[in-house]
Amino acid sequence: MKNEADVVVIGGGINGCAIAYELAKRGKDIIVVERKWLAYGATGRCGAGIRQQWATKENAMLAKKSVEIFEGLSEELGYDIGLRQGGYLIAIHDEEGMKQAKKNVEMQRSIGLPVRIIGEDEIKEIAPILSPEGMEAIAATFCPTDGHANPFKTTYAYAMAAKKLGAEIYKFTEVKDIKVEEGKVKKVITNRGEIKTKYVVNAAGAWSREIGKMVGLEMPNKPVRKEAMVTEPLKRMFDCMVISFKHGIYFSQQDEGQILGGIPSPEEKVGYHTEPTFSFLKHMAHMLGKYAPSLKHVSILRQWTGFYDVTPDALPILGETSIEGFIQCNGFSGHGFMIAPMTARLLAQLICGEKIDMDISRLNMDRFKGEITEEKAVVG
Ligand SMILES: Cc1cc2nc3c(=O)[nH]c(=O)nc-3n(C[C@H](O)[C@H](O)[C@H](O)COP(=O)(O)OP(=O)(O)OC[C@H]3O[C@@H](n4cnc5c(N)ncnc54)[C@H](O)[C@@H]3O)c2cc1C
Repeated sequence: MKNEADVVVIGGGINGCAIAYELAKRGKDIIVVERKWLAYGATGRCGAGIRQQWATKENAMLAKKSVEIFEGLSEELGYDIGLRQGGYLIAIHDEEGMKQAKKNVEMQRSIGLPVRIIGEDEIKEIAPILSPEGMEAIAATFCPTDGHANPFKTTYAYAMAAKKLGAEIYKFTEVKDIKVEEGKVKKVITNRGEIKTKYVVNAAGAWSREIGKMVGLEMPNKPVRKEAMVTEPLKRMFDCMVISFKHGIYFSQQDEGQILGGIPSPEEKVGYHTEPTFSFLKHMAHMLGKYAPSLKHVSILRQWTGFYDVTPDALPILGETSIEGFIQCNGFSGHGFMIAPMTARLLAQLICGEKIDMDISRLNMDRFKGEITEEKAVVG
């Protein structure tokens, strides 16, 4: 194991691997430390949906710029990441929902997203499997360039490309402490040895708060258990992701034909709880049957849990901190896969002292000292 690097990235999820690649591309000497294996955290348990339809401009812009990167990523990284752009269909349930949807769509269109409001007939045209009545939907918003990619392939594609550029990736290497002297990052202590460095990127997902404590930072992130499930494979029926902010449900059909989705569990818990619940399965099956009645008798093959790394405003924590060299890249709540490509690029620009493509200063941790604007367009 090397004992010195320009930057030590903590966490081998989509964000850690994407940052490692962006930094290695800029000639930096990088070490990624992951206490288990790549995509062990939320990344390997996520729906991997890619949605640009957000209520806050920060999220919408990060997602839009990320989609632009996703579209060329298989070619750039030299490995097929399984990108499929079948759109996101977001149910609108009542007049209040319609008011918020119109506001969101206006902002989204102002930044160039091809989002539109569609009626019940078009909902059925786009996904004939859906029942607007069962969904309790009066309309929906639809963005055809939203989609999905394979989270394992994307993470490994970034990691392999970073390695080709000289980055070292140490699996089964757990960060135990970080040494800070005179307010500056000095070294990272792991179970396999010490690494001298001036920069640490905290991309430890739901465990980022513990990493923050190592440098004396109190972070507001909370780990929240989320559950997901997958059915048996079925013939191709629809291409879009279907979601509802009111019911919290999301589901899509995978390339191999399975329906993959989730919904907030009636027993949702804050803390590092990993056990799956039967109440989630019952609730998910009931709601899926209402949204798509023909799925009522389909077999569920598997369920699992993972953590959302939730912040008080559901926006990520990005950028510099009061500790020189300690860079935050966490708090992604339920959407850290879809905005990883742009986030990684911006943080690499920041670390390398380049001109930054997008102002992310509002996503700094200091925002929690003042009044916050909450992202309302969240599911799952
Ligand atoms: C059920 C579910 C569905 C989701 N659906 C979507 C979706 O459709 N679209 C979307 O964009 N997002 C979705 N998300 C959210 C998304 O998965 C996460 O925001 C994203 O994967 C976070 O990636 P990350 O690299 O920041 O963190 P993670 O993937 O959690 O990686 C963090 C890594 O840090 C490692 N680590 C922690 N502590 C240490 C330590 N001390 N030393 C070394 N390593 C350490 C962990 O082992 C872990 O591998 C979903 C999440 C869940 C749980």
